[in-house]
Amino acid sequence: MYIVVPIKQVPETSNVKMDRETGTMIRSGSDAIVNPLDLYALETALRIKEKTGARITVLTMGPANAAKVLKEAIAMGCDDAVHLSDRAFGGSDTWATSYTLAEAIKKLGNVDLVIAGERATDGDTGQVGPGLASWLSMSLVTYTSAIEELTDTYIVAERLVEEGYQKVKAMLPSVLTVVKEIASPRLPTLRGKKRAMAMDIPLWGALDLNLDSTNLGLLGSPTRVVKIESPKLTRSCKVVTASEEEAIPGAVDELLQFLSSKDLLTMRKVK
Ligand SMILES: Cc1cc2nc3c(=O)[nH]c(=O)nc-3n(C[C@H](O)[C@H](O)[C@H](O)COP(=O)(O)OP(=O)(O)OC[C@H]3O[C@@H](n4cnc5c(N)ncnc54)[C@H](O)[C@@H]3O)c2cc1C
Repeated sequence: MYIVVPIKQVPETSNVKMDRETGTMIRSGSDAIVNPLDLYALETALRIKEKTGARITVLTMGPANAAKVLKEAIAMGCDDAVHLSDRAFGGSDTWATSYTLAEAIKKLGNVDLVIAGERATDGDTGQVGPGLASWLSMSLVTYTSAIEELTDTYIVAERLVEEGYQKVKAMLPSVLTVVKEIASPRLPTLRGKKRAMAMDIPLWGALDLNLDSTNLGLLGSPTRVVKIESPKLTRSCKVVTASEEEAIPGAVDELLQFLSSKDLLTMRKVK
């Protein structure tokens, strides 16, 4: 069995700040990490590898420093990695991203399973996994929460849906997007880290792939992000404190008056 796991490098969200003027993300100063939801995709692939001896290639498209997330995946136990990076890929939306990743997966050849995260924490569209299935003409199982059976020809999986769970059977080759329920990601091992440090990761640019330039980068991207805004706080809260016991009745009174002034309470006299 041959598995490809596409992972995305994202800014650590606790550090992300927005530029109020331009509405864009200020990425400088924030650490780049593996998209947290992709760790579940990696763990799923690694568990399949433990059971079946599958080979796992991890794939990312991103700038030079994105190689760091590939090394982390190798340290967790993936076999090899490919880094897609080229000026021509810059500004890709989900259409161009999934197209470029799909062409790389075609070049890798004979892939049985592509296991992606549910969504990336920055772009957050959840479209790249389904996009890959479409470009590669593979079956698609989204929101996968468990794998019940996996053979050389089909997979039986459980999907998390609003009403509960759905059991589906899909023929291989297949694309899965996985949710957190599927498995707890493992930590990289020291041995894995040493292997990752020593590994040279191949870098593929536009010329290494069989690409149609009309689907590439900014020009090949039908989506335009016109404006990004942080949500405005439209409510403020009222804080009433009573540090001494004697102050409590007054504080309760103040709260009741406040709620009543907002028509949130009908005041009734207690006899
Ligand atoms: C704030 C912001 C808003 C954006 N809005 C849009 C928008 O509205 N429409 C649009 O088309 N694009 C948008 N983009 C661009 C979008 O981030 C890129 O297209 C991105 O490469 C893929 O989309 P995503 O982050 O939504 O990934 P998702 O589709 O949410 O990611 C799902 C999975 O696909 C895989 N994956 C995604 N990207 C890569 C990659 N580069 N390399 C390897 N695997 C990957 C991972 O397994 C990931 O878990 C936006 C970007 C930002 C920062």
